[in-house]
Amino acid sequence: MEIRTDSTSLDIDRHEGNLIKELRSSSTKPVTEPSGWLSEDLKRNIFLTTVDNVLNWGRKSSLWTETAFTACCTFEFISLSSSRFDIARFGMEVLRSSPRHADLIITAGTLTWKMAPQIKRVYEQMAEPKWVIAMGACGITGGIFADSYSVVPGYNRILPIDVYIPGCPPRPEALLAGIELLRKKVEKRSFLQG
Ligand code: SF4
Repeated sequence: MEIRTDSTSLDIDRHEGNLIKELRSSSTKPVTEPSGWLSEDLKRNIFLTTVDNVLNWGRKSSLWTETAFTACCTFEFISLSSSRFDIARFGMEVLRSSPRHADLIITAGTLTWKMAPQIKRVYEQMAEPKWVIAMGACGITGGIFADSYSVVPGYNRILPIDVYIPGCPPRPEALLAGIELLRKKVEKRSFLQG
């Protein structure tokens, strides 16, 4: 349905409800992790290795995070941004409010179906290459709310996840370990992947 200027709030609610229903019915299985799509031959392309190294060094040293913080795990991320843990070491201190400026989503919190279409839209608006870290039990499986009618049982129902960080909430040290894993993954990315 098209939202027109004379649409009533009931029309807009119905439109939003239809979007959520559509996303929910098409999100029954985890999304495949992106590096699995490429053949081993392409991943090992020797000619492009030097270009890969330079690009990946730049990418892993300036991971900019989209602010998509939906619940209590957020506070551990805030702690990670403090001087004690100092994520500026990894060029990550810049949080972006625009998906077009970000290449990483850290899913800090419970996701409801009501918010799911917006989070998916934010991910789709990010330029390639882009990565997602699922932080905390809620981000991975829906956590203690997994059986609720309103909660998405894991961000991997709607986004491809690169790194999972368990915990409720995970401590900043665990988050740092997850970021290090992601940096290693970024290092291995091939230019042919975008
Ligand atoms: S995993 Fe725990 S701390 Fe994190 S959002 Fe869920 S309930 Fe909150």
